[in-house]
Amino acid sequence: MPELDEYIDEIKDIWDTHWLTNMGVKHQKLQEELKEYLKVNEIDLFTNGHMAIELSLQAMNLPRGSEVITTPFTFASTTHAIVRNGLEPVFCDINGDDFTIDVSKIESLITDKTSAIVPVHVYGNVCNVEEIERIAHKYGLKVLYDAAHTFGVQYKGKGIASFGDVSCFSFHATKVYNSIEGGAACFRDKEFGLDLYRLKNFGIRGPEKVDGIGANAKMNEFCAAMGICNLRHVDAEIKKRENVVKRYIEHLKGIEGIQLNPVQKDVKPNYAYFPVVFNEKTFGATRNEVFDALAEHGIGARKYFYPLTNTFDCFHGKYDPNETPVALHISKRVLTLPLYADLALEDVDRICDIIIGCRK
Ligand SMILES: *Cc1c(COP(=O)(O)O)cnc(C)c1O
Repeated sequence: MPELDEYIDEIKDIWDTHWLTNMGVKHQKLQEELKEYLKVNEIDLFTNGHMAIELSLQAMNLPRGSEVITTPFTFASTTHAIVRNGLEPVFCDINGDDFTIDVSKIESLITDKTSAIVPVHVYGNVCNVEEIERIAHKYGLKVLYDAAHTFGVQYKGKGIASFGDVSCFSFHATKVYNSIEGGAACFRDKEFGLDLYRLKNFGIRGPEKVDGIGANAKMNEFCAAMGICNLRHVDAEIKKRENVVKRYIEHLKGIEGIQLNPVQKDVKPNYAYFPVVFNEKTFGATRNEVFDALAEHGIGARKYFYPLTNTFDCFHGKYDPNETPVALHISKRVLTLPLYADLALEDVDRICDIIIGCRK
């Protein structure tokens, strides 16, 4: 959070204008600032990251019932956005090292019903965007990246949202950058942007014309103001996160049975998460034992992502998680450790002591 005074300064003029929402001054300002920060040409803001994804998929106008290739190693949002659009998720496995979609398995999942690919830049790790682009182009598929974890990440000097037809960010309170709740869609095509803009405002085209079946997903002025304040500090926050991550690595690197997140080539990272995969045989404790030991000390690690979305109760066994064996394997062994800018390095030391102490 910014200093309270900074936020109050930012929202003061709302008391003059009484303009609380509906794409006011703060919304426009944040939009312009984000364009620059994220190095994108086109962006629209949303009430949250989920609605950015869901409405972007709707704006793509994919044939109802068509198949969308995605991964189950993600937050509920990605899969739900697909299903809520009347589309059929087809689950592709992930890489065991960076947890993003395994591009070598995409083509075998493509059928004449496939309309799009929805990969996830998991934990801030960048998908193989070149190969995904090649496949999408070859088969005429749309690409929407769930970029919820990759705020500020660059690949080969380009903003991460430069890839694919659309990339969606989340500005949820728990993410690297927040606007309390919020999200954004970045896209290539201006026409698409107009359709998307209408969908976040009930499908209203003009005062007397409604030609889309839209929702309400507008970012309000108070959230935009929070976003404006936090954007001033995000680089410093990321720098502090880097120090926390370095400290974790000092403790945990080279320990048998512990797999750490990779350092990716050509990527400017944002240190969004610190996932650790525990191999119980070589480490000497299971992920769940480590989770419980940390919880006993009041430390909240997360089984993120567990369970896989293709095992959710709401799908009533419709999907078989054994078809994504790497994702299944990782989901049972991964833990994301506490990571935020103000996490004290001594606390990192304590957390690592507890983890290492779990070995039998
Ligand atoms: C947080 C998150 C979302 C949803 O974003 P919200 O802003 O919470 O709606 C979608 N996908 C992933 C991978 C996320 O982590």
